[in-house]
Amino acid sequence: MRIVETELIKKAVKEAVKTANTRLPVDVLTSLEKARDNETVPHARQVLDILLQNAHQAQTENMPLCQDTGLVTVHVQLGQEVALTGGSLYEAINQGIGEGYTEGYFRASMVKDPFERVNTGDNTPAVVHLEMIAGDKVIITVFPKGAGSENMGRTIMLKPADGWEGARRFVVDTVRIANANPCPPIIVGVGVGGNLEKACLLAKKALLRPIDQPHPDRRIAAREAQLLQDINKLGIGPQGMGGDTTALAVTMEVYPTHIASLPVAVSLNCHSARRAVVTV
Ligand code: SF4
Repeated sequence: MRIVETELIKKAVKEAVKTANTRLPVDVLTSLEKARDNETVPHARQVLDILLQNAHQAQTENMPLCQDTGLVTVHVQLGQEVALTGGSLYEAINQGIGEGYTEGYFRASMVKDPFERVNTGDNTPAVVHLEMIAGDKVIITVFPKGAGSENMGRTIMLKPADGWEGARRFVVDTVRIANANPCPPIIVGVGVGGNLEKACLLAKKALLRPIDQPHPDRRIAAREAQLLQDINKLGIGPQGMGGDTTALAVTMEVYPTHIASLPVAVSLNCHSARRAVVTV
């Protein structure tokens, strides 16, 4: 058994939120550069250039990539051979977020009660997902996500007879309805299978995968490629101003489901697709 102090988790989360909010992951940056180079519509290319400039400036000046520094989802993969000591894991995560957001001067966007809407002041609490894995490590993925893209997510319980074509229509319609709201070029996370909540979690999990890595199952990778092509044919373009680049990537995760169900969930992420992974 490896003993891990929750203080270490707090420190790791604190640094991760600072990194995530100021540095775009390399795969996203590279994909934006490729999109800019391949974009055939001049004003769309110009918008992509501005987004790249923004990303470089954020990194150089240690400034947030976007004013909406998001609700933070934290995915914790906890090794079965780890014994946590020194207090609650959830408290440590939230302390790390509170300190990171305060020190980084990042916007606090969380309200305590969805109806009373009083700001909690330090962007806590996070939404935490815990997964047990083999080994003695704790892998933490910090995923701040703005409301512009989050608000455009959708889920549906299709009939099995709707099949792949039904799922495909739903994903493309979701992007069409979202239009400029999620700040394109977007990343489209798709979750298929399980039940209502599992499909949503799969869509979110899909967004954690580096976008230069297609799904390891070739059949799923082919569906991702097909969806990306469909979506980019919509012509919404960077920031909704028209162009070839509506989405940078589609990432999909699937899970077994009930004989009478076909749950599909779509989570959209904006061009400011922030994430940071730390291992404790
Ligand atoms: S959707 Fe993304 S880029 Fe647009 S305002 Fe929200 S966080 Fe910023």
